[in-house]
Amino acid sequence: MIKIVGLILLCFTMAIKAAASPPQKPGVRTIIIDPGHGGIDGGAQGKNTREAVLALEIGFQLRSLINAEMPEVKVLMTRESDELPGGLYNKNAALRWRANFANTNNGDLFISIHLNASPQNQKYARRGTGEYRTETYYVYTGKGKNRKKVAKTRTVEITERYQLPPKVRGTMTLIVASNAYNQKAKAVAANSNMNEVMMAEMGEKDSLDPEMVNIDPVLARIMRQQYTKLYFQKSLSLANTVEDGFNQLGRYSFGVWQRDWEAIWVLQATQMPAILVETGFVDHPEEEAYLSSKKGQEETARVILNAIKQYKQGVETTPPAADSLKLPTPPLNAAGQGN
Ligand SMILES: [Zn+2]
Repeated sequence: MIKIVGLILLCFTMAIKAAASPPQKPGVRTIIIDPGHGGIDGGAQGKNTREAVLALEIGFQLRSLINAEMPEVKVLMTRESDELPGGLYNKNAALRWRANFANTNNGDLFISIHLNASPQNQKYARRGTGEYRTETYYVYTGKGKNRKKVAKTRTVEITERYQLPPKVRGTMTLIVASNAYNQKAKAVAANSNMNEVMMAEMGEKDSLDPEMVNIDPVLARIMRQQYTKLYFQKSLSLANTVEDGFNQLGRYSFGVWQRDWEAIWVLQATQMPAILVETGFVDHPEEEAYLSSKKGQEETARVILNAIKQYKQGVETTPPAADSLKLPTPPLNAAGQGN
């Protein structure tokens, strides 16, 4: 009897300890939606609108879908008007602000929304108009004193410059560049809640002793590296699901990319899995029209919503074991192209 009471007391003590330092289950509680650009930074330019405007509209659409279908999830947006976030007028400062906003609000997932443009969609050529003009030119005839300048005429067709039909269209989803893992690890290490997050996600949540939070610094560093890999895998998995969704919708998908030639700050400075969805080419007239339409915006947001749902379910039902964290092989190649 005493033993049983003692056991109950022990359980009670553990429960109090756990409550004193509440470890959170791995999950998706807060989603940060980041519509790219804004205000003075319009992003890519279409004929009738620009990237910053459409990214915000798609972001709003995604927020209302999450609110309606995942009411347990909190959604925060980095901006809600056509301005750079944080009242800033500097694009790079705004990028830092976006990542800080996601980190200080303890986002579990960071979704940046953008539209693309391609120099290939801005190609021009010349063609004949069917109209002609007379051109005068001069030749010299004779030699010495007899040398004369003689005017002659010829008929030439008038040409005009015209834009070649844009060809590049489709979606792609970006994840942290392969040469930015150290940056991401630094961001992860800077997370003051990291020890608790790690303990919870490593499956220690029921036996978490506040003493255990003060883990050895070397072990902590190794675990943060592991975490960076885990976030990479999670981001990759989410990005793949997004692109699969676009494919199923009949959109052309470029798949998942790592942009190694130009770092993407919000992907590497966020202390959470992060993706950047390029939802289409704003300089392709059909895609511009589609992404400006209610239908296009809803379909696009729903692809992202479905991917988030699938991701959330995966994270919440199968917490990964610490020793199973491995980078995928073969790694994505340096040129950045995924599958
Ligand atoms: Zn952009």
